[in-house]
Amino acid sequence: MRQTGTSRQQDWSGETGVQFVRGVGPARAEALESVGVQTVEDLLYFFPRRYLDRSTVVPIRKLQTDQEATVVGRVAAKGMRGGRRRSYFELILQDNTGMLTCRWFRGTRWMQNKFKVGEPLAVSGKVTFFNGYSMNHPDFDKLGAEEADPVNTGKIIPLYPGNARLKSAGLDSRRLRRIFQYVLPHLQELLAEYLPESVRTRFELVPIRHALRGIHAPADQRSLAHARRRLKFEEFFFLQLMLALRKFHAQAQPKGIQYQEIGPLFDDLYRLLPFELTGAQKKAMREIRADMKSETVMQRLLQGDVGSGKTVVAMLAASIAVGNGYQVALMAPTEILAEQHYRTVRGFFQQLRVPVALLTGSLKGADRKSILTGLKHGDIPFIVGTHALIQAVVDYHRLGLAIIDEQHRFGVLQRGELAGKGTNIDVLVMTATPIPRTMAMTLYGDLDVSVIDEMPANRQAIVTRKIGPGKLARVYQFIKEELHQGRQCYVVYPLIEESEKMDLRAATQGFETLQKEFAGFEVDILHGRLSQEEKEDRMRRFERNEIQVLVSTTVIEVGIDVPNATCMLIENAERFGLTQLHQLRGRVGRGEHRSYCILVNRAGKQDESSAAEQRLSIMVEFNDGFKIADEDLKLRGPGEFFGTRQSGFPDLKIADFMNDTDLLYLARNAAFDVVHDDPRLDGDDHVKLKQHFLDHYREQYELSHIS
Ligand code: ADP
Ligand code: MG
Repeated sequence: MRQTGTSRQQDWSGETGVQFVRGVGPARAEALESVGVQTVEDLLYFFPRRYLDRSTVVPIRKLQTDQEATVVGRVAAKGMRGGRRRSYFELILQDNTGMLTCRWFRGTRWMQNKFKVGEPLAVSGKVTFFNGYSMNHPDFDKLGAEEADPVNTGKIIPLYPGNARLKSAGLDSRRLRRIFQYVLPHLQELLAEYLPESVRTRFELVPIRHALRGIHAPADQRSLAHARRRLKFEEFFFLQLMLALRKFHAQAQPKGIQYQEIGPLFDDLYRLLPFELTGAQKKAMREIRADMKSETVMQRLLQGDVGSGKTVVAMLAASIAVGNGYQVALMAPTEILAEQHYRTVRGFFQQLRVPVALLTGSLKGADRKSILTGLKHGDIPFIVGTHALIQAVVDYHRLGLAIIDEQHRFGVLQRGELAGKGTNIDVLVMTATPIPRTMAMTLYGDLDVSVIDEMPANRQAIVTRKIGPGKLARVYQFIKEELHQGRQCYVVYPLIEESEKMDLRAATQGFETLQKEFAGFEVDILHGRLSQEEKEDRMRRFERNEIQVLVSTTVIEVGIDVPNATCMLIENAERFGLTQLHQLRGRVGRGEHRSYCILVNRAGKQDESSAAEQRLSIMVEFNDGFKIADEDLKLRGPGEFFGTRQSGFPDLKIADFMNDTDLLYLARNAAFDVVHDDPRLDGDDHVKLKQHFLDHYREQYELSHIS
């Protein structure tokens, strides 16, 4: 298209390939692809990971031992030190206030030729004291000649994310800064503002070109702050715009079902409940009732901690649909959970003379056939099942309500597939993953949310302890006392995919030991390798207290409900994630008896700060799932917390769900207002916005539109 190196680049635009930028070229362009940069515009949105400036750089005189610090200075001396056997590379860095010794014990040959005396350099690492202040194996960034003194000149120096590809192509931060020096003066030609004027004024956002200049070459802290605010805002804004459009267009569908009357079954079911609903359950129920009564399609998330009583609410919703002559499908992520729901649902609905059936993958032959026929002809008003419910062969007579349990196990697509089995049907999604509101807003931003934030009154906090294997004998003693009082116990072994066989063996061996330990009580084992009949049979017997100690892999993780079980012993608890531990613990503390959860840490003596130890401590400290989720998010970050790819949770470039929540709220309002006023984004004010949205978010939007 054009040559590199010429000073005037006339016919370039944001879409021009990045290789045509001066200082890039084909080899570096290839390396840039590894970070998703293909065009000039992509390059502009490749943001610095952090900055060196007065607030982040520490003068050497002020260093303290054990501090994580960044120091900027010039190379005063360098060379190999130590004997022939244990030699290392040493570099003395000097600023106006003192000297810092940097040492490298590995890769020394390469290091020797890497630096020149007099060269400006930034190093980051932990400060140690050994013959003066020093750092071992610090990270380093080379600086330009004019960048050597950010502390006194007030300069702000961007540092870019790096990887091996970029490094070997010579694209370090210094090079990227130079490339931006060349690109930024051309911003005028490269891109135009796309946020509507009205949004920019209302939320006081700087124009995009200011923002990009401010992020890559900030003149001062203020322009950097403005740049960051604008760019974070827009990142949230486009996400929320996607959700707003999704929601608007889902609800603008022809018309949803209107369940005018609450129907004959609702009151009967209500009377059958052996308890009074909690205030939070009633509130959720009212919200659902209002959705079902109105002609808009219900798309509601029912969020509540394990044991908060979501299933009851779902059943009441189902009774409205069935009472109005529609079918209900309840989909659960595992067979065991589907079976359990099936038993609960059938327990109530049989008394209402409403047939209930179970459809899972393992159902075969004539039974399966008769269920498929029953669904097609409408003889089965209430079906409970797994993914099997969304198979192509499954036809419904008149599906009116889809209930999806443990949504985080299903993708958005599967939610859509179940809903697609009927016409404009209502959807109720249940999740026990208590996520902070800001997260819910993004992950489920197209759903209305009801939160059950109150536990049934008969619940007591679960007593949680972490122990080492040395204390097991005493714990067994304690469990025996519980068993003698008529209670039951779970013992859980981890199941980790890589070594399923080994884990199974651990569980089986544990089972044998426990059988001896708890002689006189019925001990049995539950794991994924058993046939469905065996699993169901053992669960049933545990429910009926014919089994007192249930040894299990994590198949019991979600949903299982045996109020008489008061003890849970989790083996190798250090191998579980926080959310999973909390889910497991939720299996006890479901009745009126005081319940206990014992976490066995077999990782050996660990320092208190190890991640596993921290997780266990959080479990001991908190019972509330929302608090635990918060802590988990802090420990792992949203990407890992949700499993970015699987959940569709966005990878943010610059904004941060934990720290930028104010902006998230603002951006959400802005986006929903825009869509409210102009649902097709056809207004003059929205031409550029729509273009930008389609250029950058089309794929995600359409994916979601299927749902
Ligand atoms: P979740 O699905 O939210 O984990 P469940 O619906 O399975 O919770 O309810 C957990 C247990 O609490 C069940 O045994 C259920 O019958 C019981 N339960 C539900 N609501 C109440 C309530 N309001 N009062 C007392 N017990 C309740
Ligand atoms: Mg449940």
